[in-house]
Amino acid sequence: MRMSEYFMPTLKESPKEAEIVSHKLMLRAGMVKQTSSGIYAWQPLGFRVLKRIEQIVREEQNATGAQEILMPTLQSSDLWKESGRYEDYGKEMLRIKDRHERDLLYGPTNEEMITDIVRTHVHSYKDLPKNLYHIQWKFRDEVRPRFGVMRGREFLMKDNYSFDLDYEGALYSYQKMFLAYLRTYTRMGLRAFPMRADTGPIGGDLSHEFIILADTGESEVFADKKWNEVDLTAAGLSYDNKKDVNDYYEKMTSIYAATDEKHDPENCPVATDQLNRARGIEVGHIFYFGTKYSAPMKATVQNKDGEVVPLEMGSYGIGVSRLVGAIIEASHDDSGIIWPEDVAPYKIALINLDPEESVCNEFCEKLYKQLQDEFNKAPFFDEILYDERKARPGAKFADMDLIGIPWQIRKGSRQDGDTVTLKKRDSDEKHEVSIGQALDMIRESSQLNKKAA
Ligand code: ATP
Ligand code: MG
Repeated sequence: MRMSEYFMPTLKESPKEAEIVSHKLMLRAGMVKQTSSGIYAWQPLGFRVLKRIEQIVREEQNATGAQEILMPTLQSSDLWKESGRYEDYGKEMLRIKDRHERDLLYGPTNEEMITDIVRTHVHSYKDLPKNLYHIQWKFRDEVRPRFGVMRGREFLMKDNYSFDLDYEGALYSYQKMFLAYLRTYTRMGLRAFPMRADTGPIGGDLSHEFIILADTGESEVFADKKWNEVDLTAAGLSYDNKKDVNDYYEKMTSIYAATDEKHDPENCPVATDQLNRARGIEVGHIFYFGTKYSAPMKATVQNKDGEVVPLEMGSYGIGVSRLVGAIIEASHDDSGIIWPEDVAPYKIALINLDPEESVCNEFCEKLYKQLQDEFNKAPFFDEILYDERKARPGAKFADMDLIGIPWQIRKGSRQDGDTVTLKKRDSDEKHEVSIGQALDMIRESSQLNKKAA
Protein backbone atom coordinates (compact mmCIF):
# COMPACT_ATOMS: atom_id res chain seq x y z
CA MET A 1 0.00 0.00 0.00
CA ARG A 2 1.28 3.42 -0.96
CA MET A 3 0.90 5.92 1.86
CA SER A 4 0.17 8.75 -0.59
CA GLU A 5 -3.00 6.88 -1.60
CA TYR A 6 -3.89 5.40 1.76
CA PHE A 7 -6.93 6.42 3.79
CA MET A 8 -5.24 6.76 7.16
CA PRO A 9 -6.47 9.89 8.90
CA THR A 10 -3.83 10.24 11.66
CA LEU A 11 -4.01 12.97 14.31
CA LYS A 12 -1.12 14.86 15.90
CA GLU A 13 -2.88 15.57 19.17
CA SER A 14 -4.66 13.17 21.51
CA PRO A 15 -8.41 13.71 21.26
CA LYS A 16 -9.88 14.97 24.52
CA GLU A 17 -12.61 12.35 24.74
CA ALA A 18 -10.11 9.48 25.08
CA GLU A 19 -9.29 8.50 28.67
CA ILE A 20 -6.92 5.58 28.20
CA VAL A 21 -3.85 5.09 26.08
CA SER A 22 -5.25 2.46 23.70
CA HIS A 23 -8.24 4.63 22.85
CA LYS A 24 -6.00 7.68 22.32
CA LEU A 25 -3.65 5.74 20.05
CA MET A 26 -6.45 4.13 18.05
CA LEU A 27 -7.91 7.56 17.32
CA ARG A 28 -4.51 9.12 16.62
CA ALA A 29 -3.59 6.27 14.25
CA GLY A 30 -6.89 6.72 12.40
CA MET A 31 -8.01 3.16 13.15
CA VAL A 32 -11.60 3.86 14.13
CA LYS A 33 -14.18 6.59 14.24
CA GLN A 34 -17.00 6.71 16.74
CA THR A 35 -20.30 7.03 14.92
CA SER A 36 -22.62 6.95 17.99
CA SER A 37 -21.94 6.38 21.65
CA GLY A 38 -20.12 3.02 21.91
CA ILE A 39 -20.43 2.31 18.17
CA TYR A 40 -17.44 2.50 15.85
CA ALA A 41 -16.62 2.47 12.16
CA TRP A 42 -13.40 0.63 11.37
CA GLN A 43 -11.07 2.49 9.02
CA PRO A 44 -8.51 0.58 6.90
CA LEU A 45 -5.70 0.30 9.44
CA GLY A 46 -8.01 -0.71 12.29
CA PHE A 47 -9.97 -3.07 10.08
CA ARG A 48 -6.81 -4.96 9.12
CA VAL A 49 -5.90 -5.53 12.77
CA LEU A 50 -9.44 -6.64 13.55
CA LYS A 51 -9.30 -9.15 10.69
CA ARG A 52 -5.91 -10.52 11.81
CA ILE A 53 -7.20 -11.10 15.32
CA GLU A 54 -10.33 -12.71 13.93
CA GLN A 55 -8.23 -15.01 11.75
CA ILE A 56 -6.06 -16.19 14.66
CA VAL A 57 -9.19 -16.90 16.67
CA ARG A 58 -10.65 -18.82 13.71
CA GLU A 59 -7.54 -20.92 13.13
CA GLU A 60 -7.28 -21.90 16.78
CA GLN A 61 -10.98 -22.79 16.93
CA ASN A 62 -10.75 -24.88 13.78
CA ALA A 63 -7.75 -26.72 15.25
CA THR A 64 -9.98 -27.99 18.08
CA GLY A 65 -12.51 -29.38 15.62
CA ALA A 66 -15.05 -26.61 16.21
CA GLN A 67 -17.02 -25.68 13.10
CA GLU A 68 -17.68 -22.15 11.91
CA ILE A 69 -21.19 -20.97 11.13
CA LEU A 70 -22.79 -17.54 10.93
CA MET A 71 -25.94 -16.61 12.79
CA PRO A 72 -27.73 -13.30 12.20
CA THR A 73 -27.44 -10.24 14.43
CA LEU A 74 -31.22 -9.82 14.64
CA GLN A 75 -33.17 -12.43 16.55
CA SER A 76 -36.84 -13.04 17.16
CA SER A 77 -37.91 -12.63 20.80
CA ASP A 78 -39.76 -15.97 20.73
CA LEU A 79 -36.75 -18.13 21.62
CA TRP A 80 -35.78 -15.82 24.45
CA LYS A 81 -39.29 -16.12 25.86
CA GLU A 82 -38.85 -19.90 25.78
CA SER A 83 -35.59 -19.81 27.76
CA GLY A 84 -36.99 -17.22 30.15
CA ARG A 85 -34.26 -14.65 29.44
CA TYR A 86 -36.39 -12.16 27.48
CA GLU A 87 -37.62 -10.48 30.65
CA ASP A 88 -34.46 -11.16 32.71
CA TYR A 89 -31.99 -9.54 30.34
CA GLY A 90 -33.18 -6.03 31.13
CA LYS A 91 -32.10 -2.79 29.53
CA GLU A 92 -28.86 -4.09 28.05
CA MET A 93 -30.90 -5.78 25.35
CA LEU A 94 -31.79 -3.63 22.37
CA ARG A 95 -35.39 -4.43 21.48
CA ILE A 96 -36.77 -3.60 18.06
CA LYS A 97 -40.21 -3.89 16.44
CA ASP A 98 -40.56 -4.71 12.77
CA ARG A 99 -43.35 -3.34 10.52
CA HIS A 100 -45.67 -6.16 11.58
CA GLU A 101 -45.19 -5.24 15.24
CA ARG A 102 -43.16 -8.39 15.85
CA ASP A 103 -40.59 -8.20 18.63
CA LEU A 104 -37.00 -8.52 17.48
CA LEU A 105 -33.77 -7.95 19.33
CA TYR A 106 -30.16 -7.29 18.37
CA GLY A 107 -28.41 -10.34 19.83
CA PRO A 108 -26.26 -9.75 22.92
CA THR A 109 -25.29 -13.47 22.79
CA ASN A 110 -26.60 -16.58 21.01
CA GLU A 111 -27.35 -19.44 23.43
CA GLU A 112 -31.04 -19.50 22.51
CA MET A 113 -30.56 -19.38 18.76
CA ILE A 114 -27.89 -22.08 18.66
CA THR A 115 -29.93 -24.31 20.97
CA ASP A 116 -32.81 -23.97 18.54
CA ILE A 117 -30.62 -24.82 15.55
CA VAL A 118 -29.17 -27.87 17.25
CA ARG A 119 -32.47 -29.19 18.62
CA THR A 120 -33.87 -29.05 15.09
CA HIS A 121 -31.23 -31.38 13.68
CA VAL A 122 -29.63 -33.37 16.49
CA HIS A 123 -31.63 -36.22 17.99
CA SER A 124 -29.24 -39.03 18.83
CA TYR A 125 -26.08 -39.52 20.89
CA LYS A 126 -24.51 -40.56 17.58
CA ASP A 127 -24.71 -36.92 16.42
CA LEU A 128 -22.59 -35.79 19.38
CA PRO A 129 -20.32 -34.11 20.33
CA LYS A 130 -20.72 -30.86 18.38
CA ASN A 131 -19.00 -27.54 18.83
CA LEU A 132 -20.20 -24.64 16.68
CA TYR A 133 -18.94 -21.09 16.62
CA HIS A 134 -19.39 -17.83 14.85
CA ILE A 135 -17.68 -14.47 14.79
CA GLN A 136 -20.41 -11.89 14.74
CA TRP A 137 -21.36 -8.43 15.97
CA LYS A 138 -23.20 -8.23 19.26
CA PHE A 139 -25.12 -5.38 20.81
CA ARG A 140 -25.37 -4.64 24.51
CA ASP A 141 -26.78 -1.33 25.55
CA GLU A 142 -24.08 -0.75 28.17
CA VAL A 143 -24.92 1.91 30.79
CA ARG A 144 -21.49 3.46 30.35
CA PRO A 145 -19.78 2.70 27.07
CA ARG A 146 -16.18 3.88 27.43
CA PHE A 147 -12.54 3.30 26.66
CA GLY A 148 -13.25 3.14 22.93
CA VAL A 149 -13.67 -0.36 21.54
CA MET A 150 -12.90 -1.90 24.94
CA ARG A 151 -16.41 -1.30 26.24
CA GLY A 152 -18.53 -0.60 23.23
CA ARG A 153 -22.23 -1.14 22.70
CA GLU A 154 -21.75 -2.85 19.35
CA PHE A 155 -18.74 -5.18 19.45
CA LEU A 156 -17.33 -8.20 17.65
CA MET A 157 -17.31 -11.47 19.56
CA LYS A 158 -16.32 -15.01 18.79
CA ASP A 159 -18.81 -17.21 20.60
CA ASN A 160 -19.07 -20.94 20.48
CA TYR A 161 -21.31 -23.50 21.98
CA SER A 162 -20.55 -27.11 22.81
CA PHE A 163 -23.09 -29.93 22.90
CA ASP A 164 -22.36 -33.22 24.63
CA LEU A 165 -24.23 -36.25 25.83
CA ASP A 166 -23.05 -36.17 29.43
CA TYR A 167 -21.09 -34.23 32.01
CA GLU A 168 -17.84 -36.02 31.23
CA GLY A 169 -18.05 -35.09 27.57
CA ALA A 170 -18.98 -31.50 28.39
CA LEU A 171 -15.99 -31.21 30.71
CA TYR A 172 -13.65 -32.41 27.97
CA SER A 173 -15.14 -29.83 25.58
CA TYR A 174 -14.58 -27.17 28.22
CA GLN A 175 -10.98 -28.21 28.77
CA LYS A 176 -10.21 -28.16 25.04
CA MET A 177 -11.53 -24.61 24.85
CA PHE A 178 -9.42 -23.68 27.86
CA LEU A 179 -6.32 -24.80 25.97
CA ALA A 180 -7.39 -23.21 22.70
CA TYR A 181 -7.86 -19.87 24.46
CA LEU A 182 -4.35 -19.93 25.89
CA ARG A 183 -2.95 -20.68 22.43
CA THR A 184 -5.04 -17.96 20.83
CA TYR A 185 -3.80 -15.22 23.16
CA THR A 186 -0.21 -16.42 22.94
CA ARG A 187 -0.28 -15.97 19.17
CA MET A 188 -1.39 -12.38 19.72
CA GLY A 189 1.67 -11.72 21.88
CA LEU A 190 -0.39 -11.64 25.08
CA ARG A 191 -0.16 -13.31 28.45
CA ALA A 192 -3.78 -13.97 29.38
CA PHE A 193 -4.31 -15.58 32.77
CA PRO A 194 -7.16 -18.04 33.31
CA MET A 195 -9.04 -17.00 36.44
CA ARG A 196 -11.86 -18.57 38.35
CA ALA A 197 -14.90 -16.48 37.53
CA ASP A 198 -18.43 -15.93 38.58
CA THR A 199 -21.03 -17.51 36.34
CA GLY A 200 -23.58 -14.83 37.25
CA PRO A 201 -26.98 -15.30 35.64
CA ILE A 202 -25.61 -18.11 33.44
CA GLY A 203 -25.51 -20.52 36.40
CA GLY A 204 -23.35 -23.59 37.03
CA ASP A 205 -20.07 -23.49 38.90
CA LEU A 206 -17.48 -23.90 36.20
CA SER A 207 -16.30 -20.72 34.59
CA HIS A 208 -13.01 -19.02 33.75
CA GLU A 209 -12.24 -15.56 32.56
CA PHE A 210 -9.07 -14.89 30.59
CA ILE A 211 -7.49 -11.72 31.83
CA ILE A 212 -4.55 -9.63 30.74
CA LEU A 213 -3.02 -7.39 33.35
CA ALA A 214 -3.13 -3.64 32.76
CA ASP A 215 -3.44 -0.65 35.08
CA THR A 216 -6.44 0.53 33.11
CA GLY A 217 -8.26 -2.80 33.52
CA GLU A 218 -11.82 -2.57 34.78
CA SER A 219 -11.73 -5.56 37.10
CA GLU A 220 -9.71 -6.31 40.18
CA VAL A 221 -7.96 -9.68 40.18
CA PHE A 222 -6.00 -11.81 42.63
CA ALA A 223 -3.35 -14.33 41.67
CA ASP A 224 -0.65 -16.48 43.16
CA LYS A 225 2.79 -15.01 42.39
CA LYS A 226 3.68 -18.37 40.86
CA TRP A 227 1.83 -17.19 37.74
CA ASN A 228 4.71 -14.83 36.98
CA GLU A 229 6.74 -17.86 35.92
CA VAL A 230 4.07 -20.08 34.38
CA ASP A 231 4.29 -21.02 30.72
CA LEU A 232 0.93 -20.03 29.21
CA THR A 233 1.56 -21.23 25.67
CA ALA A 234 -0.13 -24.65 26.00
CA ALA A 235 2.31 -25.87 23.36
CA GLY A 236 2.78 -29.43 22.16
CA LEU A 237 -0.50 -30.99 23.29
CA SER A 238 -2.94 -32.81 21.04
CA TYR A 239 -6.66 -32.12 21.44
CA ASP A 240 -7.34 -35.80 20.77
CA ASN A 241 -5.42 -36.98 23.80
CA LYS A 242 -7.95 -36.69 26.58
CA LYS A 243 -5.49 -37.44 29.36
CA ASP A 244 -2.98 -34.80 28.25
CA VAL A 245 -5.69 -32.19 27.90
CA ASN A 246 -7.08 -33.08 31.31
CA ASP A 247 -3.67 -33.11 33.04
CA TYR A 248 -2.74 -29.77 31.59
CA TYR A 249 -6.05 -28.26 32.65
CA GLU A 250 -5.69 -29.65 36.18
CA LYS A 251 -2.16 -28.30 36.44
CA MET A 252 -3.16 -24.81 35.33
CA THR A 253 -6.28 -24.60 37.44
CA SER A 254 -4.50 -25.78 40.57
CA ILE A 255 -2.62 -22.46 40.76
CA TYR A 256 -4.81 -19.84 42.35
CA ALA A 257 -6.13 -16.94 40.26
CA ALA A 258 -9.55 -15.38 40.70
CA THR A 259 -11.60 -12.36 39.73
CA ASP A 260 -12.87 -10.17 42.54
CA GLU A 261 -16.31 -11.82 42.57
CA LYS A 262 -14.70 -15.19 43.24
CA HIS A 263 -11.97 -14.03 45.59
CA ASP A 264 -12.80 -14.50 49.25
CA PRO A 265 -10.12 -12.78 51.38
CA GLU A 266 -11.22 -14.77 54.46
CA ASN A 267 -10.65 -18.13 52.81
CA CYS A 268 -7.98 -17.38 50.25
CA PRO A 269 -5.67 -20.42 49.91
CA VAL A 270 -2.64 -18.22 49.12
CA ALA A 271 -0.50 -16.54 51.81
CA THR A 272 -0.77 -12.73 51.72
CA ASP A 273 2.87 -12.18 50.74
CA GLN A 274 2.48 -14.69 47.90
CA LEU A 275 -0.64 -13.05 46.46
CA ASN A 276 -0.58 -10.51 43.65
CA ARG A 277 -3.38 -8.01 43.46
CA ALA A 278 -3.74 -6.29 40.11
CA ARG A 279 -6.13 -4.85 37.56
CA GLY A 280 -7.11 -6.73 34.46
CA ILE A 281 -8.93 -6.65 31.14
CA GLU A 282 -11.29 -9.53 30.40
CA VAL A 283 -10.53 -10.79 26.90
CA GLY A 284 -12.46 -14.05 27.09
CA HIS A 285 -14.88 -16.00 29.22
CA ILE A 286 -15.84 -19.66 29.18
CA PHE A 287 -18.78 -21.36 30.87
CA TYR A 288 -20.06 -24.81 31.50
CA PHE A 289 -23.77 -24.58 32.26
CA GLY A 290 -25.16 -28.05 31.67
CA THR A 291 -28.85 -28.13 30.81
CA LYS A 292 -29.77 -24.53 31.64
CA TYR A 293 -31.00 -23.85 28.09
CA SER A 294 -31.50 -27.34 26.73
CA ALA A 295 -33.96 -28.34 29.47
CA PRO A 296 -36.49 -25.48 29.10
CA MET A 297 -36.02 -25.41 25.32
CA LYS A 298 -36.35 -29.19 25.04
CA ALA A 299 -33.10 -29.75 23.17
CA THR A 300 -32.77 -33.48 23.79
CA VAL A 301 -31.19 -36.60 22.35
CA GLN A 302 -31.69 -40.31 22.76
CA ASN A 303 -28.85 -41.92 24.68
CA LYS A 304 -27.53 -45.46 24.16
CA ASP A 305 -30.30 -46.91 26.34
CA GLY A 306 -32.99 -45.17 24.33
CA GLU A 307 -33.71 -42.61 27.06
CA VAL A 308 -34.39 -39.01 26.07
CA VAL A 309 -31.97 -36.65 27.86
CA PRO A 310 -31.29 -32.89 27.61
CA LEU A 311 -28.01 -31.82 25.99
CA GLU A 312 -25.05 -30.83 28.13
CA MET A 313 -23.84 -27.42 27.03
CA GLY A 314 -21.10 -24.85 27.45
CA SER A 315 -20.47 -21.47 25.87
CA TYR A 316 -17.23 -19.68 25.16
CA GLY A 317 -16.63 -16.05 24.22
CA ILE A 318 -13.68 -14.02 23.01
CA GLY A 319 -13.91 -10.24 22.72
CA VAL A 320 -12.41 -9.83 19.23
CA SER A 321 -12.86 -6.05 18.94
CA ARG A 322 -11.94 -5.49 22.61
CA LEU A 323 -8.67 -7.31 21.91
CA VAL A 324 -7.58 -4.58 19.49
CA GLY A 325 -7.57 -2.13 22.40
CA ALA A 326 -6.28 -4.66 24.92
CA ILE A 327 -3.23 -5.51 22.79
CA ILE A 328 -2.38 -1.81 22.53
CA GLU A 329 -2.73 -1.42 26.32
CA ALA A 330 -0.20 -4.25 26.65
CA SER A 331 2.15 -3.12 23.88
CA HIS A 332 2.97 0.57 23.30
CA ASP A 333 5.51 3.25 24.23
CA ASP A 334 5.59 7.06 24.25
CA SER A 335 5.79 7.18 20.45
CA GLY A 336 2.84 4.92 19.74
CA ILE A 337 1.67 1.37 19.17
CA ILE A 338 4.05 -1.63 19.02
CA TRP A 339 2.14 -4.38 17.21
CA PRO A 340 3.09 -7.99 17.92
CA GLU A 341 3.96 -9.38 14.47
CA ASP A 342 0.99 -11.67 13.99
CA VAL A 343 -1.61 -8.95 14.52
CA ALA A 344 0.24 -6.05 12.88
CA PRO A 345 -1.72 -4.35 10.06
CA TYR A 346 1.40 -4.53 7.85
CA LYS A 347 4.59 -6.47 8.48
CA ILE A 348 7.11 -4.13 6.88
CA ALA A 349 7.18 -0.37 6.41
CA LEU A 350 9.38 0.94 3.64
CA ILE A 351 10.23 4.60 4.14
CA ASN A 352 11.52 6.46 1.12
CA LEU A 353 13.21 9.55 2.56
CA ASP A 354 13.96 11.24 -0.78
CA PRO A 355 11.20 10.44 -3.25
CA GLU A 356 12.25 13.45 -5.30
CA GLU A 357 15.80 12.20 -5.80
CA SER A 358 15.85 9.78 -8.72
CA VAL A 359 18.43 7.22 -7.53
CA CYS A 360 16.85 6.88 -4.11
CA ASN A 361 13.38 6.79 -5.62
CA GLU A 362 14.24 4.09 -8.14
CA PHE A 363 15.86 1.98 -5.43
CA CYS A 364 12.77 2.21 -3.24
CA GLU A 365 10.30 1.55 -6.05
CA LYS A 366 12.21 -1.59 -7.01
CA LEU A 367 12.51 -2.69 -3.41
CA TYR A 368 8.78 -2.14 -2.85
CA LYS A 369 8.02 -4.53 -5.68
CA GLN A 370 10.54 -7.08 -4.40
CA LEU A 371 9.12 -6.97 -0.85
CA GLN A 372 5.60 -7.45 -2.16
CA ASP A 373 6.69 -10.46 -4.21
CA GLU A 374 8.34 -12.11 -1.25
CA PHE A 375 6.07 -11.29 1.66
CA ASN A 376 2.54 -10.83 0.34
CA LYS A 377 0.58 -13.97 1.14
CA ALA A 378 -3.07 -14.97 1.37
CA PRO A 379 -5.36 -14.10 3.03
CA PHE A 380 -3.97 -10.63 3.73
CA PHE A 381 -1.99 -10.07 0.52
CA ASP A 382 -0.80 -6.58 1.18
CA GLU A 383 1.97 -6.77 3.81
CA ILE A 384 4.08 -3.77 2.86
CA LEU A 385 3.27 -0.16 3.71
CA TYR A 386 5.31 2.12 1.47
CA ASP A 387 5.78 5.73 2.55
CA GLU A 388 6.69 7.62 -0.63
CA ARG A 389 5.02 10.86 0.42
CA LYS A 390 6.77 14.15 -0.11
CA ALA A 391 7.10 14.95 3.56
CA ARG A 392 9.81 15.65 6.13
CA PRO A 393 11.68 12.54 7.39
CA GLY A 394 10.78 13.43 10.99
CA ALA A 395 7.07 13.43 10.17
CA LYS A 396 7.36 10.07 8.42
CA PHE A 397 9.24 8.48 11.33
CA ALA A 398 6.67 9.82 13.77
CA ASP A 399 3.76 8.42 11.74
CA MET A 400 5.39 5.02 11.36
CA ASP A 401 6.23 4.80 15.07
CA LEU A 402 2.67 5.83 15.90
CA ILE A 403 1.05 3.09 13.83
CA GLY A 404 3.53 0.51 15.11
CA ILE A 405 4.55 -1.56 12.05
CA PRO A 406 7.09 -4.16 13.37
CA TRP A 407 9.86 -3.54 10.79
CA GLN A 408 10.94 -0.27 9.23
CA ILE A 409 13.30 -0.13 6.27
CA ARG A 410 14.48 3.43 5.68
CA LYS A 411 16.36 4.62 2.62
CA GLY A 412 17.75 8.09 1.98
CA SER A 413 19.80 9.62 -0.83
CA ARG A 414 22.78 10.06 1.50
CA GLN A 415 23.14 6.31 1.94
CA ASP A 416 25.41 4.67 -0.64
CA GLY A 417 24.38 1.88 -2.96
CA ASP A 418 22.22 -0.71 -1.31
CA THR A 419 22.70 0.51 2.26
CA VAL A 420 19.49 0.97 4.26
CA THR A 421 18.53 1.54 7.87
CA LEU A 422 16.62 -1.28 9.50
CA LYS A 423 14.64 -0.51 12.62
CA LYS A 424 12.63 -2.93 14.68
CA ARG A 425 9.74 -1.12 16.32
CA ASP A 426 9.97 -2.97 19.63
CA SER A 427 13.58 -1.95 20.25
CA ASP A 428 15.46 1.30 19.83
CA GLU A 429 18.18 -0.33 17.76
CA LYS A 430 18.83 0.85 14.24
CA HIS A 431 21.10 -1.09 11.89
CA GLU A 432 22.94 0.42 8.94
CA VAL A 433 23.14 -2.63 6.70
CA SER A 434 22.87 -3.73 3.11
CA ILE A 435 19.35 -4.50 1.95
CA GLY A 436 20.34 -8.17 1.70
CA GLN A 437 21.31 -8.25 5.36
CA ALA A 438 18.18 -6.36 6.34
CA LEU A 439 15.99 -8.92 4.60
CA ASP A 440 17.87 -11.79 6.24
CA MET A 441 17.21 -10.26 9.63
CA ILE A 442 13.54 -9.92 8.81
CA ARG A 443 13.31 -13.45 7.45
CA GLU A 444 14.91 -14.82 10.59
CA SER A 445 11.99 -13.56 12.61
CA SER A 446 9.98 -16.72 13.07
CA GLN A 447 6.50 -15.41 12.28
CA LEU A 448 7.50 -14.00 8.94
CA ASN A 449 9.33 -17.18 8.10
CA LYS A 450 6.17 -19.11 8.65
CA LYS A 451 4.12 -16.81 6.41
CA ALA A 452 6.75 -16.63 3.70
CA ALA A 453 7.38 -20.40 3.72
P1 ATP B 1 -17.83 -7.56 30.96
O1 ATP B 1 -17.74 -8.19 32.33
O2 ATP B 1 -16.55 -6.93 30.51
O3 ATP B 1 -19.02 -6.68 30.81
P2 ATP B 1 -19.17 -9.88 30.10
O4 ATP B 1 -18.74 -10.79 31.17
O5 ATP B 1 -20.51 -9.29 30.15
O6 ATP B 1 -18.08 -8.72 29.93
P3 ATP B 1 -19.22 -12.04 28.20
O7 ATP B 1 -20.67 -12.25 28.10
O8 ATP B 1 -18.41 -12.96 29.02
O9 ATP B 1 -18.96 -10.54 28.67
O10 ATP B 1 -18.65 -11.85 26.72
C1 ATP B 1 -17.48 -12.49 26.19
C2 ATP B 1 -16.40 -11.50 25.86
O11 ATP B 1 -16.87 -10.42 25.05
C3 ATP B 1 -15.84 -10.81 27.10
O12 ATP B 1 -14.86 -11.61 27.71
C4 ATP B 1 -15.27 -9.53 26.52
O13 ATP B 1 -13.95 -9.76 26.06
C5 ATP B 1 -16.17 -9.22 25.35
N1 ATP B 1 -17.11 -8.14 25.67
C6 ATP B 1 -18.16 -8.19 26.54
N2 ATP B 1 -18.80 -7.02 26.60
C7 ATP B 1 -18.13 -6.17 25.75
C8 ATP B 1 -18.30 -4.81 25.37
N3 ATP B 1 -19.29 -4.07 25.87
N4 ATP B 1 -17.42 -4.28 24.48
C9 ATP B 1 -16.43 -5.02 23.95
N5 ATP B 1 -16.22 -6.31 24.28
C10 ATP B 1 -17.05 -6.89 25.16
MG1 MG C 1 -17.69 -12.27 31.07
